[in-house]
Amino acid sequence: MTNLYIDFDGVIVNSIDVTYKMASDLGIERNEENYSKFYQNLDWCDVLKKSKPINDSWKCLQKIIDSDKFNVAILTHVNSLAEIEEKVKMIRRHFKDITIISVPKSISKTNMLKAEGSVLVDDFVGNLDEWKAAGGYGIRFDLDMDGKGYPVIDRLDVLVDMID
Ligand SMILES: [Mg+2]
Repeated sequence: MTNLYIDFDGVIVNSIDVTYKMASDLGIERNEENYSKFYQNLDWCDVLKKSKPINDSWKCLQKIIDSDKFNVAILTHVNSLAEIEEKVKMIRRHFKDITIISVPKSISKTNMLKAEGSVLVDDFVGNLDEWKAAGGYGIRFDLDMDGKGYPVIDRLDVLVDMID
């Protein structure tokens, strides 16, 4: 079975849109230092309450699991322990036993797992570039279907027919 790693923010829920809006409402300037502080102190309970699933993502994940074609895990960058806790709580409301791997923001996702021969679905091209460089297969998730050089999807269930 193929290892399939699925990003959380911007793929399963639209939490990135929510946090960008929060930052802009607070007048936080878009630079690395400000954003890093902002993300470390974010109330993720609030963020996830305001976030919505993207294109039926929970149902799509169930279809992926039911296909029995993949070892599926959710692979998510996190900025704080509270962020892990809230994400796990949300995911566990939908799936009792899906694997959840949280990666500190400062570490590459590719450094946490063996990328070679495994699939990563991510909206952030930087993650896909690192994955590919390590021998993995990257698929971009993008609602405008802009692959930026990668195969692209805008809903998760198409993975079932896309990958053998
Ligand atoms: Mg993402």
